[in-house]
Amino acid sequence: MTNNLKNNISNSNMENVVVFGTGNFGKIVVRAIVDCGIKITKICDSNTSNWGTFFCGYPVVGPDELTENDVVYLATNISNRKFLRKICRDKNIQSVFDVDNILRESSWPSYHGELDLEWSLDRAQEVIDLYLFDIASETELPLLKVKSLDVVLTERCSLKCVDCSNLMQYYQKPIGAEVEVLVESLEHFFVTVDYVSEIRLIGGEPLVSKNVERVLDTIFAYSNFDKIVLYTNGTVIPKESILKKFQDPRVWVKISDYGPVSRKAQLLADACKSLNINCIHEQVTEWEDVGRILNRDRTLDQNKVVFGNCCVNDTLTLLHGHLYACPFSAHTDNLGVLKNAEADKVNLLDLESLKERIQSIYRDKDVLVACNLCNGRDHIVAKVIAGVQTKLPLRLEVSSA
Ligand code: SF4
Ligand code: SF4
Repeated sequence: MTNNLKNNISNSNMENVVVFGTGNFGKIVVRAIVDCGIKITKICDSNTSNWGTFFCGYPVVGPDELTENDVVYLATNISNRKFLRKICRDKNIQSVFDVDNILRESSWPSYHGELDLEWSLDRAQEVIDLYLFDIASETELPLLKVKSLDVVLTERCSLKCVDCSNLMQYYQKPIGAEVEVLVESLEHFFVTVDYVSEIRLIGGEPLVSKNVERVLDTIFAYSNFDKIVLYTNGTVIPKESILKKFQDPRVWVKISDYGPVSRKAQLLADACKSLNINCIHEQVTEWEDVGRILNRDRTLDQNKVVFGNCCVNDTLTLLHGHLYACPFSAHTDNLGVLKNAEADKVNLLDLESLKERIQSIYRDKDVLVACNLCNGRDHIVAKVIAGVQTKLPLRLEVSSA
């Protein structure tokens, strides 16, 4: 056990160790804590349907059952750590820890195969790496290190999924990103942030954009990023010159395969394999039910809870020259249904105080105007079948929020 971990433990009542969080990440954390010789008493989870059940052999309770003597380990890899800390603070709990040291101290990944995870070893390692990156970057302020940037190349898509979480189903006349605006936005972003772990090229379908090569060349001019991931629905085989650029080892092609509609998914996966392109080909059968823009009539405090529990509340999204805290906020604004949302977006074409403005939407928000139109994205949200198509765009049923 490292001194760091020993200090955490010796200052705390180790009879009351609670792991806050379940899911795949929770399973890894529980095992890592046990691996470090710490005895767990119970699991805490916000999801009411888990209360009274057992997780990894430990009883699951709700946050109301936490007591001030508890020692809480936050087993969450999503962006709700701040919110879980607030719950613990409200219960007067002093001993609340992230699990970065625990993960480093444990013998991960030796026990991956024993855990019954839905995640492959690669996927689990990717999640853990991003988690460790995020924890480290919090302690490195004023450096601005961000986990990811979603770059919307186009609103156009070769599919029209009725439950698209990026709201493509609402676009009557989708357009591509104006390339000069996109390039300038990216340049301003890269000269402003200190580091970005993952840049995700998305749409719509990014491979229907004419600007994939120009965007890649723009990003390749910088070195303060780790990798570029292009998300595709497996309907388009890119031309040779694009495939050549994908051979850069920093680029990954992620194919979301929705079954028969993703008609070229296997072909694309095979092409990537033969050209030595990093590629992940995933069968996707269900999504969270987050594809509707509806007025939810929540109070501000209720919306703060929805935001706090949301797994994408710090997913920076670049759309038409503006940066948003999440894709739902970006597209509801672009679709014209937000008002008074100026404070929820950053104009990337303006360099003045850009670092501070990005910081403010990345770290300092506790709610967005868009949250009142959104179903929220947490572990509790219902599931829908992925890739179901609609012939006609959906009608917007709200005027503004
Ligand atoms: S493939 Fe479906 S989910 Fe993906 S961007 Fe297009 S409409 Fe949305
Ligand atoms: S609008 Fe709010 S709840 Fe919905 S995805 Fe964005 S941050 Fe999450």
